[in-house]
Amino acid sequence: MYGYRYVPFITLSELKPRVWITLSGCNFRCRGCFSFARNAIGAPMSVEAVIRLVKKTSNEYYGDAQLEEAVITGGEPTLDKNYLVNLVLKLKEIAGYVVLDTNGYLLDGIYLYELIKAGLNEVMFDLKVWDKKLHEWYTGYPNKQILENIRNAYGKVKLVVNTVYIPGIVDEKEIEYISRFLSEIEKRGKEKIDYRINGFRAELSREKISRNPYPKEMERAFSIVSKYMKNPAIGKSCMREREIEVKRSWITVFSDGTLKRRTLDDYRAENKKMKVKT
Ligand code: SF4
Repeated sequence: MYGYRYVPFITLSELKPRVWITLSGCNFRCRGCFSFARNAIGAPMSVEAVIRLVKKTSNEYYGDAQLEEAVITGGEPTLDKNYLVNLVLKLKEIAGYVVLDTNGYLLDGIYLYELIKAGLNEVMFDLKVWDKKLHEWYTGYPNKQILENIRNAYGKVKLVVNTVYIPGIVDEKEIEYISRFLSEIEKRGKEKIDYRINGFRAELSREKISRNPYPKEMERAFSIVSKYMKNPAIGKSCMREREIEVKRSWITVFSDGTLKRRTLDDYRAENKKMKVKT
């Protein structure tokens, strides 16, 4: 029996039939976190209620077109294993490709196996910091298990790894260590890992720990990754939506089924006002 997770909203893409499901609440306490969904926020929803909402609103918005992709994000989606496995299972019945976006701490071999069996196609791991002590300072947790979980996932599922470049904290040295680690894993097989570096956003961070990286720093980081890996990328928070040149917007679907087109600015301003559950 699985219960519910707090869901602030789901999001539909304007580009093609694609949905993001935000499960709020997180085990980590990252100092540079800029996710409004770190704490429980939104409405408590069972898997069935989430699937009903996805089906109804994607039918309304995309018509008969089948959902090409569903991305489960957070907060941290892995906090309740039964819930997540069942969500993947049900999503796979309606979407061609299912992606999990996770900090990776809880995603051990057995958990991943169950998710793959349920239909998971891709895992996007956040590998925040390489140095052990720095990782604990930044997230409140050790990174040993995350490294093991990434190693274990290789070859079983499409693998994407993300790191936020934080000047003076997670910069060139850290990126180089992580690139080496990932390139060693890649040597075990034919599959390439996509490694994406995102720039820190000081204005959104919970704690004032650094500034935004300069473009030159991001370029240097990119060239460091290129020395070791075939698939580096300088990221935007959603790489798959990058081709839109005009002011981007997405369709937010609230738990009561209301649809609203929001730009990134609307999204940030309105999310700040959402109430955290106690
Ligand atoms: S894992 Fe993500 S949501 Fe959780 S605290 Fe870190 S940045 Fe925030």
